[in-house]
Amino acid sequence: MAALTRRDELAANLAAVRERIAAACAAAGRDPAELTLIAVTKTFPASDVRLLAGLGVSDVGENRDQEAAPKAADCADLPLRWHFVGQLQTNKCRSVAGYAAVVHSVDRERLVGALSRAAVAAGRTVTALVQVALDDDPGRGGAPVRQVPALADAVAAAPGLRLGGVMAVAPLGADPDPAFARLAEVAAAVRRAHPDAAIVSAGMSGDLEAAVRRGATHLRVGTALLGGRAPVVR
Ligand SMILES: *Cc1c(COP(=O)(O)O)cnc(C)c1O
Repeated sequence: MAALTRRDELAANLAAVRERIAAACAAAGRDPAELTLIAVTKTFPASDVRLLAGLGVSDVGENRDQEAAPKAADCADLPLRWHFVGQLQTNKCRSVAGYAAVVHSVDRERLVGALSRAAVAAGRTVTALVQVALDDDPGRGGAPVRQVPALADAVAAAPGLRLGGVMAVAPLGADPDPAFARLAEVAAAVRRAHPDAAIVSAGMSGDLEAAVRRGATHLRVGTALLGGRAPVVR
C-alpha cells in the first residue's frame, strides 16, 4: 500500500473537521455556510499552508509575528486571508498590518492606536476584533468584559481599522459552554452599538461544538487539522 502523504493526512483531517462542524450546525439548527474555518498553522511549515490552500482552505491563522511574517510572504501567491490570533505587541503592529486581514487580539487602547497607524501606513484596512477575557488569567490576553464597549468604540473610530466583532479563548480546564454563552452576550452588546460587527471568533479543536452552539461565526482550529504541535520555545 502506498504511504500516506502529508496531503492525504491533511485532507482526512479537514474532512473530519468539516464533518464535526456540519454535525454541530445540524444540532444547533445553523447553516454551516455561516461558519468560517480558520486553519491555525502555527509551528507548521509554509508547505502545509500550501497543501491546505490546495484543499480549499481560504483562511489561515498564526499567533507569532516572527513566524507568521515569513510564512505569509512565502505564500503570497495563494488566495488566502491571514488572521493574527495571538497576543500582539505594539512594536509588531507594523509587520502584522502588512499581511493580516484580521487581527483577533485587540485588547487595549494602546494597541488600537498602534494598529491603526500601522494599517494607515500600509495603505490597508485591517479588520480588528476585540478579544474578551472570559477568565481572570491575564497571561492569556483579552480585555475585561466591562472594557469591551469602549474598546469597540475606539476600534470603530480608528482610521485604517474596521471593527469586525469579538474573539475569545475558553478558560482552561473549564466547561466552555457557559464561557461562550457569556461571549455571545458581549457580542450582542457590541452589535447593538455597531451593527456590522458580526464576527464571533470562538472555538478551537477541543471545543468547536460548544462554540457553534453559542453562535460563533469563526472557528480557529489547529491540532485537529494539522496534528500535535511541538512545544514552542519563546
Ligand atoms: C493555537 C491557537 C488556536 C488553535 O488551537 P487548537 O487547540 O490547536 O485547535 C486557536 N486560537 C488561538 C488564539 C491559538 O493560539
